[in-house]
Amino acid sequence: MSTATERWAEVAALFDELAELEHAVRAQRLAALDESDPALAAEVRALLAADDTPNPLLDGELAGVVVGIPGVESPASAPAGKTGPWRLLRPLGEGGMGVVWLAERIDGAYEQQVAVKVLKRGMDTQAILRRFLQERRILARLNHPNIVRLVDGGMGEDERPYYVMDYVDGQSITRHAADHHLDVSARMRLLARVADAVAYAHAQLVIHRDLKPSNVLVDHQGEPRVLDFGIAKLIEESGEQTQTGTGLRVMSPAYAAPEQILGEPIGTATDVYALGLMLCELLVGQLPRQRRGSTPAQLALEASQEVTDRASTLAARLTGAQLQALYGETADPRQLSRMLSGDLDLIVATALQREPARRYATAAAFADDLRRWLDGRPIAARADSPGYRLKKFMRRHRLGVAASVIVAFSLIGGLGVALWQAQLARAEAQRADLERGKAERQLARSERVKDFILTLFREQDPISRASATARTPVALIRDGIAQIDSSLAGEPELRAQLLKDLGEIQISLDDREAARATLKRAWELQSSLSGADSIATAEVLAAYGDAVYAVGDVPASAALLRDALTKLRQAGAGNLPRAALAESSLANIELVEGSNAEAEKLARHGVEVFRETYGAEDIRVASRLGVLGKVQQEAGNYPDALASYREALAIVARNNGEDHVRTAMLRTNVGDILRVQHKYDEARVEYETALRIERAQLPDDHLFVGGTLLRLGDLQRRMGNLEAAEASFAESIAILGKTPSGQYAQALQTYGTLARAQGRFELAAQRYRKSFEAFQAATGDSVYTWITALLEVSALTAAERFVEADRLGADALAALARVSPDDRYNNTFAASVVGSLRLAESRFDDATPLLRRALEGVQAIYDKDHAEIAQARVALAAALLGQQESALRGEAAALIETAIETLTRAGDAGSEPMLGAAYLERSRFHEQGGNLDAARADVVAAMARLRTPEYAPKLRQAEALARKLGAPVGGRA
Ligand code: ADP
Ligand code: MG
Repeated sequence: MSTATERWAEVAALFDELAELEHAVRAQRLAALDESDPALAAEVRALLAADDTPNPLLDGELAGVVVGIPGVESPASAPAGKTGPWRLLRPLGEGGMGVVWLAERIDGAYEQQVAVKVLKRGMDTQAILRRFLQERRILARLNHPNIVRLVDGGMGEDERPYYVMDYVDGQSITRHAADHHLDVSARMRLLARVADAVAYAHAQLVIHRDLKPSNVLVDHQGEPRVLDFGIAKLIEESGEQTQTGTGLRVMSPAYAAPEQILGEPIGTATDVYALGLMLCELLVGQLPRQRRGSTPAQLALEASQEVTDRASTLAARLTGAQLQALYGETADPRQLSRMLSGDLDLIVATALQREPARRYATAAAFADDLRRWLDGRPIAARADSPGYRLKKFMRRHRLGVAASVIVAFSLIGGLGVALWQAQLARAEAQRADLERGKAERQLARSERVKDFILTLFREQDPISRASATARTPVALIRDGIAQIDSSLAGEPELRAQLLKDLGEIQISLDDREAARATLKRAWELQSSLSGADSIATAEVLAAYGDAVYAVGDVPASAALLRDALTKLRQAGAGNLPRAALAESSLANIELVEGSNAEAEKLARHGVEVFRETYGAEDIRVASRLGVLGKVQQEAGNYPDALASYREALAIVARNNGEDHVRTAMLRTNVGDILRVQHKYDEARVEYETALRIERAQLPDDHLFVGGTLLRLGDLQRRMGNLEAAEASFAESIAILGKTPSGQYAQALQTYGTLARAQGRFELAAQRYRKSFEAFQAATGDSVYTWITALLEVSALTAAERFVEADRLGADALAALARVSPDDRYNNTFAASVVGSLRLAESRFDDATPLLRRALEGVQAIYDKDHAEIAQARVALAAALLGQQESALRGEAAALIETAIETLTRAGDAGSEPMLGAAYLERSRFHEQGGNLDAARADVVAAMARLRTPEYAPKLRQAEALARKLGAPVGGRA
């Protein structure tokens, strides 16, 4: 068998290769082949000779061919009058490929009327014609009462390819059935005849590829006639395919089999699939599945995941009007549904299997089962004739090979082939039985899943369950998981699948520990079923990684996610949505680990995959963009983050409307970025819009409302609108305080900062204390907790409660050294707070090294012109001056000058009081140096600028100095 196989493959490959060559080159190759394998050479030579037989009609047209320039097709530009030797009489219809005309031969050489299909412009004319030439023997051989004959083909004066076929006076099969109110049996009989015709063509090695109701006309005698045989292939293989990727351009995606959409090999089973669709449409007036995708990638996704409805289910759902349109007055949906359920559902389901190998092996087997059903015999998939086996074999190895190859081949093969055929026939019969069993089990299985889920929810139904025992979603899913083992004991694959789905639901319900346990089980089960490295297992592993992340075990999660991604990529599944989700999760982890570039790369790929898979406008893309925006934001890449969030926002708004809650969340993200960019007015608009939407759509005390109020309050404080800030915070804290959390602690912290800005330092210290406690409750002994303690230290400092400040400051330093020993930000902040405390205590020797460290820290963190740096310079200068040593005066002066220069250049309202503080230090410097005029001028400049409540202590210092210097203490009425 294997020698026959190899032999055949060799012949086929050689034929195709040589057919494309110049004659001289071809002769050379054949001569060489004569030496090595004369039999093979003879065989191929015979085939090529057959292929070169001229067809006067076609070749005459081809003589005048120039390379067609694809023009712009205007829909109305139908060719007028004639094309080639055909006079066009009237249009019969228009389809995906072009317009079909009723026509007759101009010279009367052909008596009958014909249908001429003039292809659209823009297809590669020469390639189509060459293909036509190669295929014409096969197509012309299709001689069957139910197949419309192909008569001619060529190119018209306007350089459009056309082909000519018998004219059928009739209507499409579905239209015919409805107009004649055919009953179920009559429809089945009609389709069985169509299947016969298709089976006949298959035996001639011709696959239709575009079977659909509009390609099956029924004439006035009730005889079905199949149109367009082999045409789709002709066009697909003429180079169009490379342009469209899948050759879908010539066919309607609604009728395409999954393999056609997915670019997988096409064979007789592709036509069987189409027959199954047509059967369903004939019986219930609709297709058993919808395709909505508009891009190849969307369609591919749909096709790979497609679930089809049962014909009986669709029948039960028909409205009276629909039913009447289909079957006429007397029809009853329940009766129809009963009639279709069982065997007929199974016939349709078998024809529509996702895997071609699982469908009816042939159109003949399909027709056979239709007839068994009609006769009331038990339906069964049946092995076909040995001739079919051969064809089937050929399909498996190479598609669309010329028919003459097989003829030549079987002559050479002789007895060996016959034996091999018999053997194959038996194997094929066994396989068909097996597949049939699988189809049945699969159908039963989807039924079981549905039952399982329905039982869960039915028990949840408040009417059938007392409200006292109504379960939360978390409990519902947990119960479901507990039942999986007993309900689905014999079906491990199904169990693995359900455990994964339910585990993912648990993640989204925040039932974290349970999710981890569920997904771990799903993963173990799946790897025992399909192997540790399979795509299915890697997908579950990724979900498990997410659950482990949710539980907070970041290192373990990172390892799992990386492992899952590696496996998915190795299996060529790196562009699956599940892989993209894993990449998003990993991006968050990389971010925390400081690998910003890697994080952004992962997040960006996630966006691309989702765009490619679902289309750029799909709502799911918005979620990926949100993750990307967050990554960019955390990495300090604000312009890109803003662009990502805004794109996500636009997608959500277009899909769900401008006022959807999700737009509010994204608006707060946009506002956050604008805020750090100091675009306060724009940020305020975003926050306020978000708040308006949330108030309209959510309960008044929803956490989102509290969160947005918190942001708005903080912004209002920064904008100097302290009263509005106070109101926003008060409401925010009332809401957030109901469920103690990190966010509540954060709100209290910001609230403390507001009090500080108001100059109410005692109050600020109290709020920071509460925040400290809330952080401790929510996050334990964390960085947040101790940073808040430092804030309290600085408020206590301002309130001149030094003893408490000292004690708490020492605790905070010790704690931070423990929880984040090497963090530059925290160390810098701590040095600054405690240094300022020492300064306030007039412990200048102790303050100096701390404030020097703080300055070095902010210089490493911020741009050189940042106000934080200027402030740190002023603070250090104050400590240096406080030591009253002339050696330190030079450095202090330089620090002050630089700070004044930076702050003056910034020139914004926020810098004013800082500038005032700088002038105060310069005044001290001049006073120490005995330069009293300069000291007076500076202290006046200082007082004029220290006007915000937060700087009241500094103002008091300035005023004291002014009095000492005899300067006017103005503005203090
Ligand atoms: P499609 O199959 O996608 O509908 P076609 O281009 O094949 O598009 O045909 C358009 C329409 O022209 C058909 O639906 C049919 O109504 C009509 N038609 C095509 N071929 C014939 C024919 N040989 N005889 C009569 N009508 C035809
Ligand atoms: Mg057609």
